[in-house]
Amino acid sequence: MDYEEMRAWMEQMRKANSLLLISHVSPDGDTIGSVLGLRLALLQMGKKVQIVCDGTIPDSMDYLSGHDAYLTADQVELDYDTAVAVDVSSPEMMGESLPLFERAEHRVVVDHHATNPAYGEVNWIRRGESACCQLIYDGIRALDIELTKEMATCILTGLSTDTGHFQYAATNYHNMESAADLVRHGADISYISRRMYRSQPMRRVEMTKIVYRKMHFECDGQIGAVELEKKNFDETGCSFGETDGLVNLALEIEGVRFAYLLSERENGIKVSLRAVEPDTVNDVALQFGGGGHAQAAGCTLHTTLEEASTLIFNALKAKLG
Ligand code: AMP
Ligand code: MN
Ligand code: MN
Repeated sequence: MDYEEMRAWMEQMRKANSLLLISHVSPDGDTIGSVLGLRLALLQMGKKVQIVCDGTIPDSMDYLSGHDAYLTADQVELDYDTAVAVDVSSPEMMGESLPLFERAEHRVVVDHHATNPAYGEVNWIRRGESACCQLIYDGIRALDIELTKEMATCILTGLSTDTGHFQYAATNYHNMESAADLVRHGADISYISRRMYRSQPMRRVEMTKIVYRKMHFECDGQIGAVELEKKNFDETGCSFGETDGLVNLALEIEGVRFAYLLSERENGIKVSLRAVEPDTVNDVALQFGGGGHAQAAGCTLHTTLEEASTLIFNALKAKLG
């Protein structure tokens, strides 16, 4: 287990006076829930806390306490002594927040990605854990902080989203026990799951129609692929964050072992990779300078949409064996 790393993390949290918590680009429920839950815990400890993210916090998470406290990189006051990258698998995933991390006197990483190279001074990384929120929960419990309803709601949100609402292969009994404790402390699992899975803006429905229309299958239906053009985002009004999870639509079809969804963005082609266990995709993501988990990984390619599709397709095809 990661007790030594966790102890070093706790010591730094206790020692710090002023902290900057950093979420990754294209923020998801786990990086947001982890940062907001940790923020509340540190505030309870009497610390000064700022939070930053290079990306828009989806409206669907507006029920999380502190969602409106996120700053953009240029709004951050430079008086913090400790920066904490939370659920950030590599430095580049901080986007414009990276220089803020690098300039901190103490740099801390809390993460669960298998590919994390441990780029901090204090690294609390539990590789293979299903969600970063699990570490935040364990950390809050170990620090003897009073677990409030607001904290529990943030943490259960990330635990839910990164486990596919307790369905993915990495989901473990500790996640289920922690979820039970979070519910005991006031988190409303029905409300959270409605906001996360049973309600979506019409623009995402429009994008879903496009995704199904564009979806194609290769290698006897073992690879499912979707290539989204910039104009698809413009015509639907869907933000990049709002397409989170759409890659799974291609994975959920019988016979599919690998799925990928490409999004054409100003700064390159964002690649979302998924596999059905025991197949893996983080090796493919690493090959292209990205990273992630065994069955959910990503990277960014600086090519045309068509070239990116060919590169990813060939890499996945090579894995079919
Ligand atoms: P996504 O397909 O964007 O949901 O990403 C799947 C997983 O891969 C997430 O846990 C991301 O943090 C990780 N990931 C995505 N893109 C990158 C990248 N360029 N570098 C490292 N990790 C990434
Ligand atoms: Mn994440
Ligand atoms: Mn995560």
